[in-house]
Amino acid sequence: MITPANQHVTMSALHVAVIGAGAAGLVAARELCHEGLKVVVFEREDQIGGTWVYTPRVEPDPISLDPDRPIIHSSLYSSLRTNLAREAMGFLDYPFVARPGESRDPRRFPGHREVLMFLKDFACEFGIEEMVRLDTEVVNVKLVESGKWKVKSKTRGFSDSESESEDFYDAVVVCNGHFTEPRVAEIPGINSWPGKQMHSHNYRTPEPFQDQIVVLIGSASSAIDICRDIAKVAKEVHVASRSVADETYEKQPGYDNMWFHSMIERSHEDGTLVFLNGRVVLADVILHCTGYKYRFPFLETNGIVTVDDNRVGPLYKHVFPPVLAPSLSFVGLPWKIIPFCLFELQSKWIAAILSGRKMLPSQEEMMGDVKAFYSMMEASGIPKRLSTMIGLLLSAVARAWRNGERKCTMRVTRTDMLDRRHIATSGKIMTWFCKPMKTSASIFRMKLLIDASLNLQVIHHKIRCKSHPLHMP
Ligand SMILES: Cc1cc2nc3c(=O)[nH]c(=O)nc-3n(C[C@H](O)[C@H](O)[C@H](O)COP(=O)(O)OP(=O)(O)OC[C@H]3O[C@@H](n4cnc5c(N)ncnc54)[C@H](O)[C@@H]3O)c2cc1C
Repeated sequence: MITPANQHVTMSALHVAVIGAGAAGLVAARELCHEGLKVVVFEREDQIGGTWVYTPRVEPDPISLDPDRPIIHSSLYSSLRTNLAREAMGFLDYPFVARPGESRDPRRFPGHREVLMFLKDFACEFGIEEMVRLDTEVVNVKLVESGKWKVKSKTRGFSDSESESEDFYDAVVVCNGHFTEPRVAEIPGINSWPGKQMHSHNYRTPEPFQDQIVVLIGSASSAIDICRDIAKVAKEVHVASRSVADETYEKQPGYDNMWFHSMIERSHEDGTLVFLNGRVVLADVILHCTGYKYRFPFLETNGIVTVDDNRVGPLYKHVFPPVLAPSLSFVGLPWKIIPFCLFELQSKWIAAILSGRKMLPSQEEMMGDVKAFYSMMEASGIPKRLSTMIGLLLSAVARAWRNGERKCTMRVTRTDMLDRRHIATSGKIMTWFCKPMKTSASIFRMKLLIDASLNLQVIHHKIRCKSHPLHMP
């Protein structure tokens, strides 16, 4: 059994199960292999790539509330282009460069298919595909008396036949993604509202919204993309956001059929929706672009790891549950991050710990750190559900900008990576003089700072030294 107490013992021949072959699982497999560990990656779909495997199929329940529904993993819509520049989507030693070929998309913010091709190139380059068991869903993961993890899985065979197997591993790395289980907005009176509801998880193309009056809830990336997509065909699009002032009511510049509102206050049996700004809209559809919930239906930890108001915990630096570390770990939980780069850093850390090359602090120290983090959140009035939202700082800046403020002041733990053109510091207090939000080198550096400031990996000094393309054209 691997425990924090004996983790110094060399564990180079450990068998590690990785759950999921999305970007996180692929890079985790590579890093674990680099450290000489034996890796099996379980993937329930028929190909690698996770989120980036687009499918026109959607779940039968458009709002995905039925717990017994067949699950469609990816939430991609047909028109999706990346919202990060490709320079910010590569791995440290394997950048996401434009590749020649007619089937490739050389744009700086490419379409989703290009990301899938990049991940497949990456898997091929590092021989990861051989470690992946496709069509194999992990249905149960449990620590047994021998100190090993029992991993039960089901493999789909020809003609939809299924076979079950049980294997034992020294460690499990969970990389199952967290953009599949929808979270919907609570709207008073919704049970008797007669219109149609759906979640962006089940949105693919705008055609079904032809001539409809659509109320879309949300203001994050998917909401921004989808409202523009739908406005091409819909009669009216009303975007409701909970992060604006109650009186907000604005016509969206460049559109004659789109308005921006504060949140819906109430829905009525006659099909109308009343917004906090007092406006009333008779709508055909409510489209929830309201994010996702963490879910680990296969994981049995006797309550050691829980999901409470979308906080997965307790986890040391969002990766290791102190009581089960280092044999159980999670890659990819944080959001508002630079995903692939973070997955890689987390994976390097896990691999170094499992191989015995690096040590974790004691269980007590890790738990103390988690508690201090939770206390800091509570004292700052940050809700539990934002525990893994690493880019809180960026959001604060974005909010300040939207509200017309031109500066945003935050307390940070490090100031040495700041872009001095926009930022002033005094002790640990940082003032960012806001610039319009766009993905730029300064924002990328900012994100690294945020990771560092939350003390996420404390590997940030390595990032600065490595040749990751911070210099953007
Ligand atoms: C609409 C949308 C747009 C996005 N745009 C961007 C972007 O522009 N840039 C960016 O960097 N990021 C973007 N992201 C974030 C994106 O999710 C991450 O970049 C990244 O792909 C997540 O990788 P992952 O491996 O953590 O999860 P996933 O890609 O979701 O992979 C998880 C894998 O685990 C498998 N799995 C789950 N449960 C089991 C099980 N029980 N047994 C076996 N296998 C299982 C799934 O089938 C899946 O293949 C976007 C996300 C969404 C939803």
